[in-house]
Amino acid sequence: MPEVAVVGGGVMGASIAYHLAAAGIDAVVLHERDALASGPTGRSTALIRLHYSQPLLVQMAAHGLAVYSSFREAVGFHSGFTRTGLLIGAPEDEREALEHNASLAAGEQLSPDQVEELEPRQCPCAAPRSRATSSRR
Ligand SMILES: Cc1cc2nc3c(=O)[nH]c(=O)nc-3n(C[C@H](O)[C@H](O)[C@H](O)COP(=O)(O)OP(=O)(O)OC[C@H]3O[C@@H](n4cnc5c(N)ncnc54)[C@H](O)[C@@H]3O)c2cc1C
Repeated sequence: MPEVAVVGGGVMGASIAYHLAAAGIDAVVLHERDALASGPTGRSTALIRLHYSQPLLVQMAAHGLAVYSSFREAVGFHSGFTRTGLLIGAPEDEREALEHNASLAAGEQLSPDQVEELEPRQCPCAAPRSRATSSRR
């Protein structure tokens, strides 16, 4: 008999099952009605960004970033995580919100010249850039 049944084989269920097993719970059963990652988990754009409006979300994402950065040490194989950085632009009327999000995530505001130097294919516009944001792909 399983000690714990976890329902849902998305990233949350898989992570919960993994951590229960890692904590020494012998009989963990993961129930998935379709296939693993068949829901939003398998369809996500797979970005790990710290660019959120709520500090708690930033903390959670920062934890995820740390886990994916050292996935091999923790789990035993590479997750496919690649750190790319994230450049975000916004129209003037969204500047305040963008600056707020960037400030929570140690973001950095760049001048138009800096943006153009960093990414010549982009239109040269002032954009806060989050140094700590990354992508898994
Ligand atoms: C288009 C898109 C892009 C996204 N991009 C990003 C991104 O770049 N970065 C990011 O961090 N987040 C992104 N997200 C959000 C992220 O994908 C979700 O927050 C995350 O995958 C949710 O994981 P979950 O395990 O909670 O749920 P789910 O992935 O929904 O997994 C739930 C699983 O439970 C199963 N299930 C449900 N009910 C039952 C049942 N009764 N019995 C058995 N199994 C059941 C389902 O089949 C499913 O496989 C994106 C989401 C979408 C839709």
